[in-house]
Amino acid sequence: MKISKTSILIKFLKFRFYRKFKSNSISLIKKRKWKKTVLSSPYYKNIILKNKEFPIMNKALFMENFNLINTVQIKKSEALKLAFKSEKSRDFTPSINGISIGLSSGTSGSRGIFLTNKKEKEIWVAAILDRVIGFSLKKRKVAFFLRANNNLYEAVKSKLLSFTFFDIKTPVEQHIITLIELNPTILIAQPSMLMKIAQNYIYLKIQPTIQKIISVAEVLEDDQKEYLTSVFNRPIDQVYQCTEGFLAYTCKKGKLHLNEDWLEIEKRYLDEKQDRFHPIITDYLRESQPIVRYELNDILHEGFSCSCGSKSTVISKIEGRSDDVFRFYENETVVDIYPDFIRRVIITASEKVKNYTVVLIEARKINVYLEVADKNKLENIFKTVKKELNTLFLSFGIEDINIVSVDLNHDQTNKFRRIKNEYKKSF
Ligand SMILES: [Zn+2]
Repeated sequence: MKISKTSILIKFLKFRFYRKFKSNSISLIKKRKWKKTVLSSPYYKNIILKNKEFPIMNKALFMENFNLINTVQIKKSEALKLAFKSEKSRDFTPSINGISIGLSSGTSGSRGIFLTNKKEKEIWVAAILDRVIGFSLKKRKVAFFLRANNNLYEAVKSKLLSFTFFDIKTPVEQHIITLIELNPTILIAQPSMLMKIAQNYIYLKIQPTIQKIISVAEVLEDDQKEYLTSVFNRPIDQVYQCTEGFLAYTCKKGKLHLNEDWLEIEKRYLDEKQDRFHPIITDYLRESQPIVRYELNDILHEGFSCSCGSKSTVISKIEGRSDDVFRFYENETVVDIYPDFIRRVIITASEKVKNYTVVLIEARKINVYLEVADKNKLENIFKTVKKELNTLFLSFGIEDINIVSVDLNHDQTNKFRRIKNEYKKSF
């Protein structure tokens, strides 16, 4: 089913209008309308009719109740079959009765299926136009680095706006000349890809003139932000989205705001100090597969209010995902070490570390990959990192951790995460 340029434009104008003239809160009318849609989900119908509180949803529960949650009578087995088939053939246009089927990234055992109808796709494109690309009467070229070639944006291309897609499965070196020749106005890619692009610009001694850089899909870390800002000579914007929703985006003042225009976001605090929380989202625009009180396992830090005028919550940091917290068992107590602690150790151990990964692979074994400019110094830097990591673990009462130096093991088509827990026995 082809999406329509006119309906995208109407949705785009609506977004603009509501932002300018209405308050941030979601209106009761919108909530009532949404409830009607949700009534066609057998799972939620029961809850609404019995006047019960919506339960907190997570990926496992969501997938378990897939057939009852969706409002378009699609069975999990047929959706999964189709999604895997299209993943293999890299033809990303599978659909059943006009409903597109998508797989969310994640380890193979925990992949989710996401359904979208035509209207939801149009909303998505309108939101990207409104929040990410912005409006301008000048001619602009957008370079998009994506996991899958996406024809969604074909509908909105015009004389003023063109899109070029770069498949992230292809090594970046093969894209770089095309990218330089294209000389895009806007570049959208995940931070690990932006880093490679920036390094290539430096290597080829080309002065980038890209006007807007948008980081998507992965956590943009402070050192990456700093490096990219210096290479591209402008601020780096962020869009924090996932298959479950359009969660946050950078405002004019450079702060990351939660998208509370059509998402209701509850917070589940993870620590006593209430620094960290998981967002629990309800998306008032989703129809084919209601997202109701869906708890994401991203760890967010709340920031202070912003001077841009938006009242929506400011996020000071996306720390990572809860299933990447390092969990140890010591004398029958559980010890959780958050990704930020590990990050700080590496950054402060040596300023020569350009990139790294720290992966918990067994109950007491950690693999560390360090990228340093001068390879002769690697051994010494690793020794320092190892010592500092052991000091950190000791401060939590954890001893005897086997820390091993390894090479980078990352498939470009997967999300790059520096701190990873692959020993997920405890989660
Ligand atoms: Zn702001």
